[in-house]
Amino acid sequence: MLFQWYAAEFICSKAMIAHGEADVEWSSTGITLVAAEPGDGAVQWEAWKQKCGWPFATVITNEGLLASWSLDDPPESRAMGTVSPEDSLASALLGIAPAGVGLTSGEPRAFWGEIFFGTAITWMVLYFAVRIPLVLLRTGMILNTRHLATRGQQRIQKGRCPHCSYDLKGLDYAAKCPECGTLLW
Ligand SMILES: [Zn+2]
Repeated sequence: MLFQWYAAEFICSKAMIAHGEADVEWSSTGITLVAAEPGDGAVQWEAWKQKCGWPFATVITNEGLLASWSLDDPPESRAMGTVSPEDSLASALLGIAPAGVGLTSGEPRAFWGEIFFGTAITWMVLYFAVRIPLVLLRTGMILNTRHLATRGQQRIQKGRCPHCSYDLKGLDYAAKCPECGTLLW
C-alpha cells in the first residue's frame, strides 16, 4: 500500500486525451468554433491527462486545455499554451473541449479497482521474490543430502568410511573411523 501511494505520487506520465483543429466564426452571439480540415484550422487545441501509479494508473488528472491560434480579424496569434479565461477564444474552446477538460487542471480522480489490483500484484511479486529462492534452496539441500547418503552407502559397500572414504579393511569391529572419528555402528 505504501508503494501504491509512492507510485500514485511520483510515477507519472502524460497522455493526450484528444486534439483537434477548428475555424473561427464570428456572429452576433459571439465567437463559435467549427470543425476544420486537418492542417487548415486557424485554431489547434490539445487536451492532456496526467496518469500516476504503477503498474496501473491509479490517479488520473485532466490538465487544462492547450491551444494555439492565428486570427485575421482582429489579427491575433499565439503559440501553443494554456488558455486563460481572458483569452478571446476561451469560452468558444470550452464549448468544443472534451468532457471533463477545463481551462485549468481538474480534480484528480482515484481508480480504486486499479489501486486494489496494483496492491495485490505488488504483494504477489514480493511473495514470489522471497518464495522462489527459498524453494530452490530447500531443493538444493534435499538433493545434497541424497547425494551424501548415496556416496556413504557406496563407500560402506567398498569397505570404506562413509564420511572420509578411509579404507577400513581389517577394522571390521571398529566403533569409530580411525581417520575422522565418524561412528561406524
Ligand atoms: Zn572416516
